[in-house]
Amino acid sequence: MLASLRRLLLGLALIGAGLALGTPPVHAAPVTAVASFSILADLVREVGGDRITVHALVGPDEDAHGYQPRPSDARTVREARLVVVNGLGFDTWLSRLAGSEGHASTLVVASEGIETIDENPDHAHHHGHDHDHEQGDATARTPDPHAWQDVSRARIYVRNIAAALAQADPEGASEYAANAERYDRTLQQLDDEIRSTLARLTPERRKLVTSHDAFAYFGAAYGMRVVAAAGVSMESEPSAAGIARLIRQLRKEKVPAVFVENISDPRLIERIAREGGARIGGRLHSDALSGEAGPATTYIDLMRANLRTIIEGLTPHDD
Ligand SMILES: [Zn+2]
Repeated sequence: MLASLRRLLLGLALIGAGLALGTPPVHAAPVTAVASFSILADLVREVGGDRITVHALVGPDEDAHGYQPRPSDARTVREARLVVVNGLGFDTWLSRLAGSEGHASTLVVASEGIETIDENPDHAHHHGHDHDHEQGDATARTPDPHAWQDVSRARIYVRNIAAALAQADPEGASEYAANAERYDRTLQQLDDEIRSTLARLTPERRKLVTSHDAFAYFGAAYGMRVVAAAGVSMESEPSAAGIARLIRQLRKEKVPAVFVENISDPRLIERIAREGGARIGGRLHSDALSGEAGPATTYIDLMRANLRTIIEGLTPHDD
């Protein structure tokens, strides 16, 4: 009885050994990185390739503005070699978390060195970011954080990420540089593609009306006038007067379509569309990738999906 049990165990051990031999050795990627939100995580993944694992604290279709980190996030951040933030007041909750953990991870501000656009002053006084100058200076300018919506600025993000990865993991430096260079070429093509595609819209159709003010960089880069119902973060409630003004503007300028977003409640913008005589042109991805089933699971696909939606929404429909 005992002998047969021993034989059985031996047999199992041999099968186990055989399986182990047949399996390629699993080695973990040398660098673990954490990014504040899904779009940024995708840029880090493109540059890091197989050498890194990257985790987004705020996932697809979620709003990173004023996110409240969970205890598990603190653990993830503590274990990461690299903590990547957007900066510009977008994800101070993560910079703060990384700083408070007192560990050896490197904090990377991806937007470092970009030329910023000021937050729309119509919204700036009642938005919800926790900037350093909350008291007093009402005229202080704050940068709009949504710089990734301009591909040429996202290319600077990629450069910063590549430099930070090379510093954190010098052995992988040449791989990071090669990945970044390849990705940058694709981004350059994407930038051209957006510009040439939007050139098909006549100047009076180049109006992008959305729920929160996330497309100022997109507008500046690609020649679209951008109007949003709310401020740069969804924590600000648009005023009744502001909404009425926007509805009048839609009617007066005969704006054909307005756009809902993947991270915000569509009801307000739907009401504005109805009262302003505009269609819903579709859903734009502003501050987050889409889930796996959606059209925007990478940054590049996100920009392409938005481009398609904008073109289809604003092209005249004669039928
Ligand atoms: Zn936003």
